[in-house]
Amino acid sequence: MPTFTDLGLSSSLLKAIEKQGYTEPTDIQSQAIPLLLSNKDVLGSAQTGTGKTAAFALPIIHHLEGPRDPKIKRVVQALILAPTRELAIQIQENFFQYSRFSNLRIGCFYGGVSKVPQMKTLYHGVDIVIGTPGRILDLIQSKAFHLKDIHHVVLDEADQMLDMGFLPDVKMILKDIPQPHQTSLFSATMPDAIRHLAHQILVNPERISITPVEEPVDRIQHDTIAIEKNQKLSYLLYRLKDDSIVSALVFTRTKRGAKRTALNLKAQGIPTVELHGNQSQPKRTEAMKSFKDKKVRVLVATDIASRGIDIHQLSHVINFDMPETPEAFLHRIGRTARAGFSGSVIHMVSREEMYLLKAINRHTGLTLSPQRDKAFVFDATLVIKRDDEEEEDSSGYQRHRRPKGYQSSSSSTHSSRPAFQGEPSSRPSWGEKPRYPRSEKRSFDRRKANPSNPNASTTEQKKRPFRRFQSRGTKPN
Ligand code: AMP
Repeated sequence: MPTFTDLGLSSSLLKAIEKQGYTEPTDIQSQAIPLLLSNKDVLGSAQTGTGKTAAFALPIIHHLEGPRDPKIKRVVQALILAPTRELAIQIQENFFQYSRFSNLRIGCFYGGVSKVPQMKTLYHGVDIVIGTPGRILDLIQSKAFHLKDIHHVVLDEADQMLDMGFLPDVKMILKDIPQPHQTSLFSATMPDAIRHLAHQILVNPERISITPVEEPVDRIQHDTIAIEKNQKLSYLLYRLKDDSIVSALVFTRTKRGAKRTALNLKAQGIPTVELHGNQSQPKRTEAMKSFKDKKVRVLVATDIASRGIDIHQLSHVINFDMPETPEAFLHRIGRTARAGFSGSVIHMVSREEMYLLKAINRHTGLTLSPQRDKAFVFDATLVIKRDDEEEEDSSGYQRHRRPKGYQSSSSSTHSSRPAFQGEPSSRPSWGEKPRYPRSEKRSFDRRKANPSNPNASTTEQKKRPFRRFQSRGTKPN
């Protein structure tokens, strides 16, 4: 295994690395750093937590550091695009640490906050820009950000940018960067769209693949609990009584779910913050910071916190809601057991989520099987708000919208209301996807489309888009 000195990094970088406490390069660093130092393009697929950020940051700093004439304005020479604001901030923090002896200016630009200070920073000159594609494009179009001096481009977590619909923005940004420049693309998975993008933007790339991301980290201990949906909050509170859960990142499927869960934990005196897309950027930054600094014990988040985010020695990840894809599962659990530490994950699996668990097992080769926690006694009085009326998923799309009064099959057993026509007549058993009889499903879909008139067809609904406004006597504007 080569040392950092063998990799050919500058003395200021070696000093910064020593200060970080890194004794030897990780796999991805020993492979990527020599390639990037010799100006090659790189296509990397690497599991998060492998030291990927240093692998691209150190060579960039090496290329750009050096004495500067204070009379000459700095121009942007390196651009790093990341999918989320949290990841962009984290990358900037890493750049700050690695460049502490290198006299470079590093800007981080993302949406959700005013553009004006970012434009001022650019006006005064920066060497390296890290940002999310939307805001970077916006700054380019506002003529505050010029691409003509860029020599190094990094796309980090490219597959998440694809998932979040950023690829058109990314392509628009890249097409205006003059040649020649060095590009590296890192992605946890390599779907076709990312391969295609790599083919378009990379010139004779060197490929690096570190432990396929599809393989879950084996230092993680899994605790898979069979729990009814309406008992999940009570169960979470019960588990958090355990002091060995020093810090927990709790994942919910929806923003509303994250909000409610955090509300309930705070009501029980557990220091908790929430993180989801409905918050302002300062709130998101503050939440992430207080959790990373260990000022609070629990962070309840949607999947925006699942990728790339590095929380030092996170002891537990808790899947309050099971993730909808095996990839999301791997990203979530990858928040723990990072940089050689071990970690635990608690999966809270309701019977409605069993098919998700099966897909996860199939995809990852794990054999997670939910067991009831016999010591747990459900206490409904602890729960002040229930998590059963979710409407939006974490990406902001509306999903699973239920007609008013509709409750999930599991909660229906605790209610005296009459069952709806479309509701499954019996609760799904463990291991079975909830099913609706065909005819009932159709009427359920119709009611979903138009709760006031279950008999109206969906096409009729489509033909009259302003129906709601007309009936209220209000004109759409
Ligand atoms: P990343 O994959 O870039 O998010 O890095 C994951 C964690 O590994 C971060 O906390 C880094 O500070 C840490 N790290 C990166 N490189 C090394 C190294 N060579 N030795 C020890 N820790 C490292």
